[in-house]
Amino acid sequence: MNKTDLTHIKHLFSTPKKIIIVAHKNPDGDAIGSSLGLFHYLKKINHEVQVIMPNDYPEFLKWIPGNDTILKYEESVEACDSYINNADIIFTLDFNAFHRTGNMEEALTNSSAIKIMIDHHQSPDTYSNFTYSDVNMSSTCEMVYNYINMLGHENYIDTNVATCLYVGIMTDTGSFRFPSTTGKTHQIIASLIEKGANNSQIHNNIYDTNSYDRLQLLGCALNNLRVIPESRTAYITLSQEELNRYNFKKGFTEGFVNYGLSLQGIVLAAIFIEDKHEGIIKISLRSKGNFSVNLMSREHFNGGGHTNAAGGRSTLTLTETVENFISILPNYKHALKNE
Ligand code: 5GP
Ligand code: MN
Repeated sequence: MNKTDLTHIKHLFSTPKKIIIVAHKNPDGDAIGSSLGLFHYLKKINHEVQVIMPNDYPEFLKWIPGNDTILKYEESVEACDSYINNADIIFTLDFNAFHRTGNMEEALTNSSAIKIMIDHHQSPDTYSNFTYSDVNMSSTCEMVYNYINMLGHENYIDTNVATCLYVGIMTDTGSFRFPSTTGKTHQIIASLIEKGANNSQIHNNIYDTNSYDRLQLLGCALNNLRVIPESRTAYITLSQEELNRYNFKKGFTEGFVNYGLSLQGIVLAAIFIEDKHEGIIKISLRSKGNFSVNLMSREHFNGGGHTNAAGGRSTLTLTETVENFISILPNYKHALKNE
């Protein structure tokens, strides 16, 4: 985002606008936090703002200030299409290509609104009129904080904005432990606490609201954990039958993949989750050091993401997907050994 872009954006914002904020399908803490953080800020500077998510998201995100105003595209296509068609500006947050918004792809592609992208994923598409893309950023929430600052509006960061942005920085950095966490990230976190974010309460709301069923499913996942020592790899599988057994709800499997990565010496961890409804195996990949799961996912699993965290999918069966995963590991032996 250069000076000319900022001048243009300041000019755009100088009169009230109809603004839509969208994020990726299956929104996570960063997607919801950045969207609602930006929402509260833009409302404060007198714009008409509507947040639209492609679909539903986990219960542990539903306390975030402004949550009740969010529309879900899958649940109200007509109303959402009307908002999108009438929008002056569409912010696209925490994703790098329209196909990551699922069913919203067509409406977004056809919209003539000005598009502003704020995102930290690799290989951003070129649909936006203004692009703030930085793969070195911990989270889109950190970028929204910077964005508000670049516009000279840090005074508009109130308790609501601060709370929302704290959520996404916390969840996308694994509670401030991933390498993307910088001194600057901590300075921003300090400033958000000073502006009213209740850090202890936020951690509690996100991480300490487990149901008994979810912990039982975690037990099942850990039971299914397998290790391939020669490839320094660990993986977990969860079949639809296992998910049903523990009354699976959205968000239950969030973070499970990290248990594989917590094993000593492991540099690549995967989880394969069967979704009979969508007819796919959802794959999450995590790594340590320079091993790029973004590249692995792009090459083999129809997905992408970041160097150390990526997602993808497979249309093979669960067993075939795992067999395929194991069969490609020798191609990466050198990279996995040197991590
Ligand atoms: P998760 O494994 O939690 O679904 O995703 C890990 C990271 O990769 C997140 O930042 C997520 O946004 C990103 N990601 C997941 N699936 C895809 C995908 O299909 N394409 C891209 N570019 N990023 C993805
Ligand atoms: Mn993110």
